[in-house]
Amino acid sequence: MTSLCPRCRKAMLWREGDRFYCESCRRVYQQIARCPECEHPLEKLAACGAVDYFCQHGYGLISKKRIVLKYEEVA
Ligand SMILES: [Zn+2]
Ligand SMILES: [Zn+2]
Repeated sequence: MTSLCPRCRKAMLWREGDRFYCESCRRVYQQIARCPECEHPLEKLAACGAVDYFCQHGYGLISKKRIVLKYEEVA
């Protein structure tokens, strides 16, 4: 999966964990998983090597296929 910069829409090729670096903007963006139902950030649960996402606003476990990925600039 290619991660696109939220500012210039170019592919961000540098990644470290949840952080991405855009060479064009020279900025660092943090990847945040949001709930497709309520749009709040999801809690990341790592269990047995698999990662699940949990909505704390009543929608429960959200499958990885349904999460909405957003990128927020890191100051
Ligand atoms: Zn950019
Ligand atoms: Zn939710």
